[in-house]
Amino acid sequence: MAETEADLREAVVAACREMAEQGLNQGTSGNVSVRFGEGLLITPSGLPYGEMTPGDIVPMGMDGRSDHPLPPSSEWRFHRDILQARPDVRAVVHAHPTYCTAFAMCRKDIPAAHYMIAAAGGPTVRCGGYALFGTEELSLRALEALQDRTCCLLANHGMIATGPTLAKALWLAVELETLCRQYAVALQVGRPHILSEAEVAEAMERFKSYGPRPKAG
Ligand code: 13P
Ligand code: ZN
Repeated sequence: MAETEADLREAVVAACREMAEQGLNQGTSGNVSVRFGEGLLITPSGLPYGEMTPGDIVPMGMDGRSDHPLPPSSEWRFHRDILQARPDVRAVVHAHPTYCTAFAMCRKDIPAAHYMIAAAGGPTVRCGGYALFGTEELSLRALEALQDRTCCLLANHGMIATGPTLAKALWLAVELETLCRQYAVALQVGRPHILSEAEVAEAMERFKSYGPRPKAG
Protein backbone atom coordinates (compact mmCIF):
# COMPACT_ATOMS: atom_id res chain seq x y z
CA MET A 1 0.00 0.00 0.00
CA ALA A 2 1.47 3.37 -1.01
CA GLU A 3 1.84 5.70 1.96
CA THR A 4 0.97 9.36 1.55
CA GLU A 5 3.07 12.17 2.98
CA ALA A 6 0.35 12.76 5.59
CA ASP A 7 0.46 9.06 6.64
CA LEU A 8 4.24 9.17 6.97
CA ARG A 9 4.22 12.41 8.97
CA GLU A 10 1.75 10.88 11.41
CA ALA A 11 3.77 7.66 11.60
CA VAL A 12 6.96 9.61 12.44
CA VAL A 13 5.24 11.51 15.28
CA ALA A 14 3.69 8.25 16.57
CA ALA A 15 7.14 6.57 16.47
CA CYS A 16 8.63 9.44 18.52
CA ARG A 17 5.89 9.16 21.12
CA GLU A 18 6.32 5.38 21.22
CA MET A 19 10.09 5.79 21.77
CA ALA A 20 9.41 8.11 24.70
CA GLU A 21 6.77 5.72 26.13
CA GLN A 22 9.10 2.74 25.83
CA GLY A 23 11.76 4.69 27.72
CA LEU A 24 14.16 4.80 24.74
CA ASN A 25 14.27 8.59 24.65
CA GLN A 26 13.26 11.52 26.76
CA GLY A 27 13.06 15.27 26.22
CA THR A 28 14.52 16.05 22.81
CA SER A 29 17.12 13.29 22.53
CA GLY A 30 17.00 11.09 19.44
CA ASN A 31 15.42 11.58 16.02
CA VAL A 32 13.53 9.66 13.32
CA SER A 33 13.48 9.75 9.52
CA VAL A 34 11.64 7.94 6.73
CA ARG A 35 12.37 7.80 3.03
CA PHE A 36 9.85 9.88 1.07
CA GLY A 37 9.92 10.30 -2.70
CA GLU A 38 13.41 11.38 -3.77
CA GLY A 39 14.26 12.58 -0.25
CA LEU A 40 13.24 12.07 3.36
CA LEU A 41 10.98 13.28 6.14
CA ILE A 42 12.83 13.94 9.40
CA THR A 43 12.01 15.15 12.91
CA PRO A 44 12.82 18.80 13.65
CA SER A 45 15.75 19.67 15.92
CA GLY A 46 15.18 20.22 19.62
CA LEU A 47 11.39 19.96 19.69
CA PRO A 48 10.12 17.90 22.66
CA TYR A 49 8.22 14.82 21.47
CA GLY A 50 5.14 15.73 23.53
CA GLU A 51 4.77 18.95 21.53
CA MET A 52 5.51 17.53 18.08
CA THR A 53 2.70 17.47 15.49
CA PRO A 54 2.72 15.99 11.94
CA GLY A 55 3.15 19.49 10.42
CA ASP A 56 6.46 19.90 12.31
CA ILE A 57 8.13 17.02 10.42
CA VAL A 58 10.69 18.46 8.00
CA PRO A 59 10.85 17.37 4.32
CA MET A 60 14.42 17.31 3.01
CA GLY A 61 16.05 16.57 -0.33
CA MET A 62 18.99 14.17 -0.61
CA ASP A 63 21.10 17.32 -1.11
CA GLY A 64 20.31 18.26 2.52
CA ARG A 65 18.13 21.22 1.49
CA SER A 66 14.86 22.05 3.19
CA ASP A 67 12.56 25.07 3.11
CA HIS A 68 10.49 24.06 6.14
CA PRO A 69 10.31 26.78 8.83
CA LEU A 70 11.70 24.41 11.48
CA PRO A 71 15.35 23.27 11.34
CA PRO A 72 15.83 19.55 10.63
CA SER A 73 17.36 17.27 13.27
CA SER A 74 21.00 18.13 13.91
CA GLU A 75 21.68 14.50 12.85
CA TRP A 76 20.18 14.92 9.35
CA ARG A 77 23.55 13.99 7.83
CA PHE A 78 23.63 10.43 9.12
CA HIS A 79 19.92 9.95 8.37
CA ARG A 80 20.44 11.20 4.80
CA ASP A 81 23.71 9.29 4.34
CA ILE A 82 22.28 5.98 5.60
CA LEU A 83 19.20 6.30 3.34
CA GLN A 84 21.47 7.15 0.42
CA ALA A 85 23.99 4.35 1.03
CA ARG A 86 21.44 1.64 1.80
CA PRO A 87 18.58 1.28 -0.70
CA ASP A 88 17.06 -1.48 1.50
CA VAL A 89 16.60 1.00 4.36
CA ARG A 90 13.43 3.11 4.45
CA ALA A 91 13.51 4.30 8.08
CA VAL A 92 16.20 5.35 10.58
CA VAL A 93 15.69 5.65 14.33
CA HIS A 94 18.29 7.25 16.62
CA ALA A 95 18.01 7.22 20.41
CA HIS A 96 19.97 7.43 23.68
CA PRO A 97 18.48 4.47 25.60
CA THR A 98 20.22 3.75 28.90
CA TYR A 99 21.70 0.27 28.33
CA CYS A 100 22.78 0.87 24.72
CA THR A 101 24.33 4.14 25.82
CA ALA A 102 26.10 2.56 28.80
CA PHE A 103 27.90 0.13 26.44
CA ALA A 104 28.53 3.03 24.02
CA MET A 105 30.10 5.00 26.89
CA CYS A 106 32.47 2.06 27.46
CA ARG A 107 32.96 1.83 23.66
CA LYS A 108 32.12 -1.88 23.66
CA ASP A 109 30.70 -3.95 20.81
CA ILE A 110 27.81 -6.26 21.78
CA PRO A 111 28.71 -9.93 21.15
CA ALA A 112 26.42 -12.86 20.27
CA ALA A 113 25.42 -13.71 23.84
CA HIS A 114 21.78 -14.13 22.69
CA TYR A 115 20.40 -15.37 19.39
CA MET A 116 18.52 -12.05 18.99
CA ILE A 117 21.85 -10.63 17.77
CA ALA A 118 20.65 -12.07 14.44
CA ALA A 119 18.27 -9.10 14.17
CA ALA A 120 21.39 -6.93 13.85
CA GLY A 121 22.36 -8.83 10.68
CA GLY A 122 25.65 -10.27 12.02
CA PRO A 123 27.51 -11.71 15.03
CA THR A 124 28.10 -8.36 16.75
CA VAL A 125 26.52 -4.95 17.15
CA ARG A 126 29.45 -2.63 16.53
CA CYS A 127 30.14 0.51 18.48
CA GLY A 128 31.10 3.23 15.99
CA GLY A 129 33.96 5.60 16.78
CA TYR A 130 33.34 8.88 18.58
CA ALA A 131 32.60 12.12 16.76
CA LEU A 132 30.78 15.28 17.84
CA PHE A 133 26.99 15.06 17.47
CA GLY A 134 25.57 16.59 14.28
CA THR A 135 28.81 16.30 12.29
CA GLU A 136 29.73 14.73 8.97
CA GLU A 137 32.40 12.78 10.83
CA LEU A 138 29.73 11.17 13.05
CA SER A 139 27.89 10.15 9.89
CA LEU A 140 31.07 8.47 8.57
CA ARG A 141 31.56 6.62 11.88
CA ALA A 142 27.91 5.50 11.80
CA LEU A 143 28.19 4.20 8.21
CA GLU A 144 31.33 2.23 9.15
CA ALA A 145 29.62 0.64 12.15
CA LEU A 146 26.52 -0.19 10.08
CA GLN A 147 28.49 -2.07 7.41
CA ASP A 148 26.50 -5.34 6.88
CA ARG A 149 24.39 -4.54 9.95
CA THR A 150 20.94 -3.15 10.66
CA CYS A 151 21.91 -1.30 13.84
CA CYS A 152 24.91 0.03 15.77
CA LEU A 153 26.02 1.89 18.86
CA LEU A 154 27.66 5.33 18.68
CA ALA A 155 30.56 5.89 21.11
CA ASN A 156 29.68 8.14 24.08
CA HIS A 157 26.33 8.92 22.48
CA GLY A 158 23.63 6.26 21.79
CA MET A 159 22.40 3.95 19.05
CA ILE A 160 20.95 3.80 15.51
CA ALA A 161 18.43 1.23 14.23
CA THR A 162 17.35 0.98 10.59
CA GLY A 163 14.59 -0.92 8.84
CA PRO A 164 12.67 -1.53 5.63
CA THR A 165 9.73 0.12 7.45
CA LEU A 166 9.46 2.52 10.38
CA ALA A 167 7.67 -0.18 12.42
CA LYS A 168 10.60 -2.58 11.89
CA ALA A 169 13.22 0.07 12.75
CA LEU A 170 11.35 0.92 15.96
CA TRP A 171 11.00 -2.79 16.81
CA LEU A 172 14.75 -3.21 16.30
CA ALA A 173 15.52 -0.21 18.53
CA VAL A 174 13.51 -1.80 21.36
CA GLU A 175 15.14 -5.21 20.75
CA LEU A 176 18.64 -3.70 20.78
CA GLU A 177 18.01 -1.93 24.08
CA THR A 178 16.61 -5.19 25.51
CA LEU A 179 19.65 -7.11 24.28
CA CYS A 180 22.01 -4.59 25.89
CA ARG A 181 20.04 -4.74 29.15
CA GLN A 182 20.18 -8.54 29.19
CA TYR A 183 23.89 -8.56 28.36
CA ALA A 184 24.61 -6.03 31.13
CA VAL A 185 22.78 -8.24 33.65
CA ALA A 186 24.51 -11.39 32.33
CA LEU A 187 27.88 -9.70 32.92
CA GLN A 188 26.85 -9.26 36.56
CA VAL A 189 25.69 -12.88 36.86
CA GLY A 190 28.78 -14.50 35.37
CA ARG A 191 30.65 -14.83 32.10
CA PRO A 192 28.17 -14.86 29.18
CA HIS A 193 28.70 -17.70 26.71
CA ILE A 194 29.12 -16.38 23.17
CA LEU A 195 27.34 -18.26 20.35
CA SER A 196 29.50 -19.64 17.55
CA GLU A 197 29.51 -18.14 14.05
CA ALA A 198 27.56 -21.19 12.82
CA GLU A 199 24.92 -20.72 15.54
CA VAL A 200 24.54 -17.05 14.66
CA ALA A 201 24.34 -17.88 10.93
CA GLU A 202 21.58 -20.40 11.69
CA ALA A 203 19.61 -17.81 13.69
CA MET A 204 20.09 -15.26 10.88
CA GLU A 205 18.63 -17.76 8.42
CA ARG A 206 15.54 -18.12 10.65
CA PHE A 207 15.32 -14.33 10.90
CA LYS A 208 14.75 -14.06 7.14
CA SER A 209 11.18 -15.16 7.86
CA TYR A 210 10.88 -13.74 11.40
CA GLY A 211 9.95 -10.34 12.74
CA PRO A 212 6.99 -8.20 13.64
CA ARG A 213 4.17 -8.60 11.16
CA PRO A 214 0.85 -6.87 10.76
CA LYS A 215 -2.11 -8.86 12.07
CA ALA A 216 -3.76 -10.79 9.24
CA GLY A 217 -7.38 -9.82 8.75
P1 13P B 1 17.99 16.81 17.48
O1 13P B 1 17.00 17.34 18.49
O2 13P B 1 18.69 17.91 16.70
O3 13P B 1 17.36 15.75 16.58
O4 13P B 1 19.19 16.11 18.28
C1 13P B 1 18.99 15.10 19.23
C2 13P B 1 20.14 14.15 19.24
O5 13P B 1 19.98 13.03 19.68
C3 13P B 1 21.48 14.57 18.70
O6 13P B 1 22.34 13.49 18.59
ZN1 ZN C 1 21.81 11.75 19.68
